[in-house]
Amino acid sequence: MRPIVILGSGLAGVSLARELRKLDKEIPLVLVTADDGAFYSKPNLSNALGAGKSPAQLALTPAPQLAEQLHARILAHTTVSAIHAVQRRIDTSGGPLEYSKLVLAIGAQPIRPALDGDAAADVLTVNSLADYTRFRERLAGKRRIAILGGGLIGCEFANDLCLGGFAATIFDRAKQPLGRLLPPQAGQFLRARLEQGGVTYHPETSLIRVERHNGGYHLSDDHGAEHQADLVLSAVGLQPAVELARTAGLTVRRGIVVGRGLASSDPHIYALGDCAEIGGLVLSYVLPIMQAARALAQTLAGTPVEVSYPAMPVVVKTPACPTVVCPPPAAATGIWHEESGSAGVRSIFADDTGKALGFALLGEETTKEKVTLAGQMPGWL
Ligand SMILES: Cc1cc2nc3c(=O)[nH]c(=O)nc-3n(C[C@H](O)[C@H](O)[C@H](O)COP(=O)(O)OP(=O)(O)OC[C@H]3O[C@@H](n4cnc5c(N)ncnc54)[C@H](O)[C@@H]3O)c2cc1C
Repeated sequence: MRPIVILGSGLAGVSLARELRKLDKEIPLVLVTADDGAFYSKPNLSNALGAGKSPAQLALTPAPQLAEQLHARILAHTTVSAIHAVQRRIDTSGGPLEYSKLVLAIGAQPIRPALDGDAAADVLTVNSLADYTRFRERLAGKRRIAILGGGLIGCEFANDLCLGGFAATIFDRAKQPLGRLLPPQAGQFLRARLEQGGVTYHPETSLIRVERHNGGYHLSDDHGAEHQADLVLSAVGLQPAVELARTAGLTVRRGIVVGRGLASSDPHIYALGDCAEIGGLVLSYVLPIMQAARALAQTLAGTPVEVSYPAMPVVVKTPACPTVVCPPPAAATGIWHEESGSAGVRSIFADDTGKALGFALLGEETTKEKVTLAGQMPGWL
């Protein structure tokens, strides 16, 4: 009997396998992954220094133990290079593999900023435990860390690096941190708290050149200013991994296009996680992955189910400024209403009838409203 094959052993692949095993203990299951197959929780990468964790401590379950728990074969260090949809077969670095159903949970790739200079290729990105292990090795003996991008990941790494005794500097094109998620007062509050926590913040600034200099780096920005750093980390965003699907003839837009049943344009191939565009949405967060994994597990176990998304607030792991944001749906019209004080900011996005469609809460006390407010928000899908 051909197995169900899941490509990828990140949160999406492993969560799906776990959900499937709750419903069906016997169906043959194979996970194929380019990495070592150990399970780790990716959100822990950007607060490990503050939590006093080494990269090795972040690997929660080694591949053999995970295979046993999931009653599955895990083909680690195995790269998939092609999908033959008609034959229901994939080409892997370990040979061909046939499937009954194929699930793409292949994640996303960091976007590399266009930079000049002889050290542009030295700029690091972190989107896996292996990347993070390299990053921590490179941090040894360094002090000044430049971070490109003041989004969620950039802010979390900056805060964490400061907690670990490093000097972190963020460069971001936008006027404020989390420019795409937070309204102005909330953004300025977060910036002030990050700065109090030791982060240096350069808004409306892009780095354009990185040169090697005295064992570190000489950086040039687009205002003509020069900066020094010992290490440069880029956190400017992720691009869903779509090439494998595109080459196989599946429909792709920003992500691999799937409907609410998680099936792609080929009825035997599904997608979820950072690689997928589900019902028109690309949501690179844990909670949407959990929703999708639960729905798809039921479908694969024989009961077709469509995924629905309630509003899912994102907790930003910046201890300098507890922050929760629940963005309004992309097509929503309305305005932000912000109330700020010294202890926090409460921002509500409401339409012209006064109905709340999104929120941002900053500060220890203010974020306690998260659960109540989330329950009042309209679902996303
Ligand atoms: C630093 C950081 C912090 C984060 N913090 C939060 C947070 O606090 N809250 C939150 O909600 N979200 C957070 N996120 C986002 C969240 O972690 C991701 O959405 C989630 O982990 C993505 O899981 P995934 O399984 O889709 O992808 P991935 O974890 O990227 O897994 C992809 C898998 O596919 C495999 N693969 C890819 N291509 C191939 C191939 N050709 N052949 C074989 N295998 C292949 C890889 O080896 C890997 O196993 C964070 C992300 C980062 C980077």
